[in-house]
Amino acid sequence: MTAEKSIAAVVVDVVARGTDRPFDYHVPESLRDAIEVGSRVRVSFGHRKVMGYVVRLSGEASYGRLKPILDVMDLIPPLTPELVDLGLWMAETCLCHPITALNAMVPAMLKGRYRHVVRVHPRFAPGTVLSPEEEALIERLRREGERPLETVLTWPGVSRSLIRQLVRERRLLVEERVGDRVTRRRTRWVKPAVSGQEFRRALDALPPQAARQREILNHFLNHPEAVPLSKLLASLKAGRSSVDSLVEKGLLHMEEREELRDPFAGRSFEQTSPLPLTTEQERAFQAIVGPLREERHHRILLHGVTGSGKTEVYLQAIDETLKRGRQAIVLVPEISLTPQMVARFKGRFGPRVAVLHSGLSGGERFDEWRKIRSGEVQVAIGARSAIFAPFSNLGLIVIDEEHESSYKQEEQPKYHAREVAFRRGMAHRAVVVLGTATPAVETIHRAGRGELERVVLSRRVQGRPLPQVDVVDMREELREGNRSIFSRMLQEALEQCVSRGEQAVLFLNRRGFSTFVLCRACGKVLECCHCDISLTFHRTNRTLRCHYCGHAEPVPEACPACGSTHIRYFGTGTQRVEEEIARLFPGMRVIRMDVDTTNRKGAHEELLGRFGAGEADVLLGTQMIAKGLDFPRVTLVGVIAADTMLHLPDFRAAERTFQLLTQVSGRAGRHNLSGRVVIQTYSPIHYSIDLAARADTESFYRKELLSRKQHRYPPFCRLFTLLFSHADRQAVMQAAFEASRLLKQALAGRAEVLGPVPATIPRMKDRYRLQVFIKYTDEEVAKAVKKVLRHLEERAEDPELRISVDRDG
Ligand code: ADP
Ligand code: ZN
Ligand code: ZN
Repeated sequence: MTAEKSIAAVVVDVVARGTDRPFDYHVPESLRDAIEVGSRVRVSFGHRKVMGYVVRLSGEASYGRLKPILDVMDLIPPLTPELVDLGLWMAETCLCHPITALNAMVPAMLKGRYRHVVRVHPRFAPGTVLSPEEEALIERLRREGERPLETVLTWPGVSRSLIRQLVRERRLLVEERVGDRVTRRRTRWVKPAVSGQEFRRALDALPPQAARQREILNHFLNHPEAVPLSKLLASLKAGRSSVDSLVEKGLLHMEEREELRDPFAGRSFEQTSPLPLTTEQERAFQAIVGPLREERHHRILLHGVTGSGKTEVYLQAIDETLKRGRQAIVLVPEISLTPQMVARFKGRFGPRVAVLHSGLSGGERFDEWRKIRSGEVQVAIGARSAIFAPFSNLGLIVIDEEHESSYKQEEQPKYHAREVAFRRGMAHRAVVVLGTATPAVETIHRAGRGELERVVLSRRVQGRPLPQVDVVDMREELREGNRSIFSRMLQEALEQCVSRGEQAVLFLNRRGFSTFVLCRACGKVLECCHCDISLTFHRTNRTLRCHYCGHAEPVPEACPACGSTHIRYFGTGTQRVEEEIARLFPGMRVIRMDVDTTNRKGAHEELLGRFGAGEADVLLGTQMIAKGLDFPRVTLVGVIAADTMLHLPDFRAAERTFQLLTQVSGRAGRHNLSGRVVIQTYSPIHYSIDLAARADTESFYRKELLSRKQHRYPPFCRLFTLLFSHADRQAVMQAAFEASRLLKQALAGRAEVLGPVPATIPRMKDRYRLQVFIKYTDEEVAKAVKKVLRHLEERAEDPELRISVDRDG
């Protein structure tokens, strides 16, 4: 039987030319029980010993010259066969090394140093007969407490399969301990070391003045199970020394245990119960649970205006999923993984939820992941990478705000969580729900072609109206002599809102609109000396900073080009807006949220908490405040400059503008007070702004799809973006032109090859950057592109040249 596992195909943890395929190894007899598809193993590769993942097991007899697998690293493989398959598919579609894709699916912590320890299961199942070997092993572990797995394996009669057997029977527990001390949380536990009879005898022998020791012994007579030392001391008001002397007498046993960290320990979440659904919500709910009950893979676009109760639909669909013994993943954009959002899921599902987000420490993340892998939790909520949550019986995957660009990973593997969700959904016959008020243009297109079922929630719950939206033409303001950042309409609205005791959110898009420094004499804009990008002025410490590479320098006294001292700060950063508010509305209380005020851990949460508690009248921030916030007293939303994104060289510029404006507008008047939105812009007639203001979603998508079709952009074609970078301008030009020539040759008549052209940021971190675009429709082209790229890679002698590939930007 085990002959079937005699050969393992292993993807080794080495990223180099030629390692983008698995290598075969021989599985020694002793490891056959322990190895599975998805196991991590140690193997020799060249002269090194490296880690690798088993991606296939087979049973051919001719392993004559194969090297053996040296060791299996985990008792429970970190990956399931389904995830292995997913990883290989991802490597194929993202054009990256398989190891890069596989590594992306396990927590970073697992890649660090770590070891396994064995101990007796705390809820040891008594009753069944044990073999003498088993008896001896358990007895010894009882005596010695937890021991490293490697040590235990050297004890007589102990084998891996014996331990696996006992783990399955809940007699033993094997735990992973990360080797880094700071990441471990350990507590001391105390328990009786002898029988009750001996306890009673010891009680009688205690001298009368040892009252505390007596109390402790009495406690264990009534509750013989182990307790944390701190809890014992607190409940009996005893001192540590009493416990210590009982341990010395051999009556008590003290041991250290690691606890799975719970990032939400000690926080209580208000229990919530399902709300009666509105007619529209009920229809959406039925659309999801129908295929869920049939265990049929199905894709649904839940297109619901902001505040239409999408989250309540998710919660009830998840409930149904859990009732059927299956599991659910919920993806939310990192920035909307707010405490409010977490509380809604914890409040409904309590400890059955694992939360994965970047605010957790590596150890906390690892522990949340382990709870998923071991089946301790059934719901995972998190940002992009939570799509890899290692569940084995997924019933439902929800992607909230599915249009968010953060679902696309920017580095290899450059996967899109939506595509991964579809793939996993097929493998598990799960239902995939994409929820948003502003679907991606691609998603609308797919729904139009019947690849997804579109379910619309057209109204806010309880008949709350959508806010009234006004667009202000800022050119007009200037013509009429208003030089302020604030239009007269926004000034008035803000004043009224605050004087009514209500709150306002002011939104400023950061991208491309930070404060730059300009010489009024010669017009020079100060730029970073490493990147072709203007430096941003930071008033708090009077420095100029590059937002791409982090370079910082003091503000110069004079213009480096002409020597003039007439240097001025331009543009509108959040700090500028804050100062303007102070000037126009003395006494108005502002909380500012941007990269500067939120880089400290927990700052985000704290600022929102203060705003929610009414400590400020205005919340001023960048895109991080655009989504997910739900404050009942917010009745005004102001967009300081709506068109800052519109002029980026990006085919998604109009889509992003429309989505952002619709989302920020959705922050106003979500509860009993009605809302108002003021959008300031220099391009009031642009369709993305005009249609967002009129909440005319259907017209926007119609217009945008038409424009994409006319200009041949996704979803009407697929697009590869090749980015070439090098410290030497000449070298990068040469490489990019050569690549473009080769691609044009290889793809003639099948695809359109454009460029090279300078990248949006032509130089970054001292590297020059050029782009080549390939527009295509035929999937065969992808293979041809890969071939050319491999050819380029093989020919490239210059290790400094970097080529990165991105699909559908
Ligand atoms: P969305 O996710 O679509 O923006 P939410 O799920 O956040 O909308 O719902 C908006 C508000 O309406 C929330 O405060 C939510 O508690 C409330 N709500 C949702 N569904 C119902 C319902 N069926 N009855 C009453 N209130 C509801
Ligand atoms: Zn100058
Ligand atoms: Zn820089």
